Amino acid sequence: MAIIETSEDHLTADEIFTKARAVLPSIALATIYRNLSQLTKAGRIRRITMQRGPDRFDKTLARHEHLICTECGALSDAYLGDLQEFLSAKAGVTILDYEINMRYICQQCRQKRRK
Ligand SMILES: [Zn+2]
Ligand SMILES: [Zn+2]
Repeated sequence: MAIIETSEDHLTADEIFTKARAVLPSIALATIYRNLSQLTKAGRIRRITMQRGPDRFDKTLARHEHLICTECGALSDAYLGDLQEFLSAKAGVTILDYEINMRYICQQCRQKRRK
């Protein structure tokens, strides 16, 4: 689905639906959900499980983790390299996949706090 694979941000299914509807007014939300799970299974996008709020979808497949602002919920990418071997060694088992969500306070929110 081109809309997902060309989007810049980490969008939720609802946001993708809104974008898709602008191009294809007749598209159904169920179609979006189906496409998202197909693309996720096929490894063409990544699903990010959010602690608060709906899951987000990421078309950047290069190994990266996420920084989540605890104040505004903004999500940004953090490139830490491939930690699979490191995590496997630490855990004593072979890790097949992992997802790291790091929480912090983004620069914008830090600036807001200072005021
Ligand atoms: Zn923030
Ligand atoms: Zn990302």
